[in-house]
Amino acid sequence: MSVSWHLACIDCATTYGGDTLRVRCDCGGVLDVVHAPVSVAGGQLRELFDGRLASKAPIDRSGVWRFRELVLPVAQAHIVTKPEGNTNLYDAPSVAAWVGVGALRLKHEGENPSGSFKDRGMTAGVTMARLHGMRVVACASTGNTSASMAAYAAQASMGAVVFIPDGKIAFGKLSQALAYGAKTIQIRGDFDAAMRLVEEVCDAEGIYLVNSINPFRVEGQKAIGLELMQDLDWNVPDWIVLPGGNLGNSAALWKGLSEAHAAGLIDRVPRIAVVQAAGANPLVRAWTTGAPLEPVAAETLATAIRIGNPVSWKKSLRGVVASGGVVTDVTDQEIVDAKAIVDRAGIAAEPASCATVAGLKKLVSAGVIAPDATVCGVLTGHVLKDPGTVVDYHRGELPGILSTYANPPVVCDADLPSVLAALRG
Ligand SMILES: *Cc1c(COP(=O)(O)O)cnc(C)c1O
Ligand SMILES: [Zn+2]
Repeated sequence: MSVSWHLACIDCATTYGGDTLRVRCDCGGVLDVVHAPVSVAGGQLRELFDGRLASKAPIDRSGVWRFRELVLPVAQAHIVTKPEGNTNLYDAPSVAAWVGVGALRLKHEGENPSGSFKDRGMTAGVTMARLHGMRVVACASTGNTSASMAAYAAQASMGAVVFIPDGKIAFGKLSQALAYGAKTIQIRGDFDAAMRLVEEVCDAEGIYLVNSINPFRVEGQKAIGLELMQDLDWNVPDWIVLPGGNLGNSAALWKGLSEAHAAGLIDRVPRIAVVQAAGANPLVRAWTTGAPLEPVAAETLATAIRIGNPVSWKKSLRGVVASGGVVTDVTDQEIVDAKAIVDRAGIAAEPASCATVAGLKKLVSAGVIAPDATVCGVLTGHVLKDPGTVVDYHRGELPGILSTYANPPVVCDADLPSVLAALRG
């Protein structure tokens, strides 16, 4: 197989051919996909990408493969697409007012086919599995990666094996993995334990690992930034804010935007702010101390970012630093309050997504992000991924959490006076 890219270790710079199935360097470091320079000029690339918006072909309609010259130039016949992307960029004035900026736009990645941004990376990961003739794919997941992988593997008629932490997975996500037919293994341990095991299982069994340690997942995820720039008519905002868990998404966002900049597609790279949960903040600690990342025991109700030993931390930090960005963290209380505001704006997203808005509020208060800055936030997952947290919040039943913006259901007797009293009460 001949491909136009190669892989390079981000620690020791060892290179590997682009057709390798390995997801780590011999030294243990993670790998980057390194592309050949794009031969099309920036202005022409913009025209090419904009022109595809009028096409009906799935690979042009996909918000990932529309940008294939920058994402991953593979032969069309191999591509497994739903097609993903094309998520809305909402103007959110009520959320902007709450966080203290003049204007805020929210890119809702929960509007992807399986309900999270993970579909952008997964279409690339499963496409590579097909390209190599792999029969089975696997991942460890806090939920959304497994939902996405199960959906794409089913579409491509591949086997799917999912490793999830026992009991700490939102119901919407677990039900998707089961529904799409993935073999679902609940590990008696946390995500970090599941992640360690899945790498060993894949090595032993010849299964293709599609966690975001897989460098091709990151290539697909780059398209979040590319599509966002296209939504903005290629006008670069000052800041992009997004949540960080295993840190593949923030790593991909910067890689895609810096490659787009090098190709002349955009005239600068926006600053990137990564927001972690205070109970799962190893990147914040590494950022603050300047020391290598020390794993933590993660605890947060935002289960999608309940990760203590993120595999892509070096790639993520590289992007934050290069973009002049920042890393911060927010408490669970701040996350659920931000979520209530996002939900009430009619946009709505799962808890981890709303770390974006909570983090933005904190950074504006601290004077890091100016009130007149142009800011885009990424909402990563759909509100129905985690209905339990929504209902418990509004009923005031989340342990240790104040339901500041509660909207509880009203129970009343089945007669008109009682209903009227409930209505007016
Ligand atoms: C996976 C996920 C995240 C974290 O993304 P990383 O790439 O692991 O940093 C955040 N929010 C949601 C909803 C997710 O599914
Ligand atoms: Zn190496």
